[in-house]
Amino acid sequence: MRIAMIGSGYVGLVSGVCFADFGHDVICVDKAHDKIAALKEGRIPIYEPGLDELVQRNVRSGNLSFSTDIATSVGEADVVFIAVGTPSRRGDGHADLSYVYSAAREIASAVKGFTVVVTKSTVPVGTGDEVDRIIAEANPLADVAVVSNPEFLREGAAIDDFKRPDRIVVGLEDERAREVMAEVYRPLYLNKAPLVFTDRRTSELIKYAANAFLAMKITFINEVADLCESVGANVQEVANGIGLDKRIGAKFLHAGPGYGGSCFPKDTLALVKTAQDAGSPIRLIETTVEVNTQRKRAMARKVVAACGGSVRGKTIGMLGLTFKPMTDDMRDAPSIAIAQALVDLGAKIQAYDPEGMGHAKKILPPGIDFAEGPYEAAEGADAICIVTEWNQFRALDFKRLRDVMSAPVIVDLRNIYQGDELAKHGFSYSSIGRPKNR
Ligand code: NAD
Repeated sequence: MRIAMIGSGYVGLVSGVCFADFGHDVICVDKAHDKIAALKEGRIPIYEPGLDELVQRNVRSGNLSFSTDIATSVGEADVVFIAVGTPSRRGDGHADLSYVYSAAREIASAVKGFTVVVTKSTVPVGTGDEVDRIIAEANPLADVAVVSNPEFLREGAAIDDFKRPDRIVVGLEDERAREVMAEVYRPLYLNKAPLVFTDRRTSELIKYAANAFLAMKITFINEVADLCESVGANVQEVANGIGLDKRIGAKFLHAGPGYGGSCFPKDTLALVKTAQDAGSPIRLIETTVEVNTQRKRAMARKVVAACGGSVRGKTIGMLGLTFKPMTDDMRDAPSIAIAQALVDLGAKIQAYDPEGMGHAKKILPPGIDFAEGPYEAAEGADAICIVTEWNQFRALDFKRLRDVMSAPVIVDLRNIYQGDELAKHGFSYSSIGRPKNR
């Protein structure tokens, strides 16, 4: 199959290279010239484990190439994927579909022969209908089948997720696309990944319902963690105790500073808006969004409490800035709200992240010092706050830490340490949903 991938970000690049690895002939297109120039020179513009090697291998085999030219790439393709961003629209929280619609217009004037146009971006119910309409309006002679095929990969484990998915959802209205999509995913299908065919609107909603459910599960355990703190219970043991029930499942039951990232915040909000517009508000998700938004900033209060009631004039070392480990993605990371709140309260921040510093420098509030490593971030600090659970922070040298810090105080927002162990090293320790020093 000849595949054109429009948009070569986290999803487009990973999906494109994996399709090339299946043996398809793939061209990854992006309008960002610097991105494509980097890829052509063998540099990967994002941090994603294993991606570098996979790109190199498929470029060498001739299955993968890069371009900024949509027209030629689309004209030669049997299948065109749209994998452009769908951020929150400024002001109202609806998904901003301008990138999707503009890609659809460009595709319309470039298609030749029967072409399957697949929306991989996360898009609200009805977007496929609009893409169909835009293409028909822009080029009445275009022979296309517009399909929905949402992506479920997680950054940090994207290649493995793409190659070993729990399911592949395909929503279509034109039966001619069924065989083509089965062929695109044949290597996975043979590995028994269920290919779930449905109609286009249902497929679009499956993606939002999945993300909203996961966001709700995280928010649930976060609120249980707060209750644990109030009543002297331990959230990790509660999570274990409920997670062993197969109806509940152990995943997404890790209490923390609130969900962030490029998907959950914008997708929950977009679903809330879709549901309100449809006259069927989803109150559980409205509440999830509200609780999570407040939670991120509230995490600063934990640091304040650990510092004896005020952080004014104090130095806080922040370890981890990305929304989760193994990615450089800073979009909607809890660190942004936490850093802002600490700065508002008069703290000086020394921050460090293994991969996210480049993006963090552009996003975090001004006046933050960026350190070269965890011990440099802890230098002279009155407390350190672990915000992202990078492996690098899981086995810190406590003696070294204590020697460089002004006061031995650790606030662990990811529960990666045990308080009794840290107490032995002379640290005052607080975490999420666990009794102090435990
Ligand atoms: P991204 O911002 O990393 O990449 C989008 C790319 O599209 C950018 O490089 C941009 O330059 C390019 N682009 C925009 N308009 C274009 C056009 N007309 N022609 C060519 N290129 C164009 O975004 P992402 O994280 O890859 O997300 C893409 C979509 O996938 C979103 O809808 C997102 O919700 C969804 N998604 C993301 C993830 C994730 O973990 N990042 C997971 C599942 C689904």
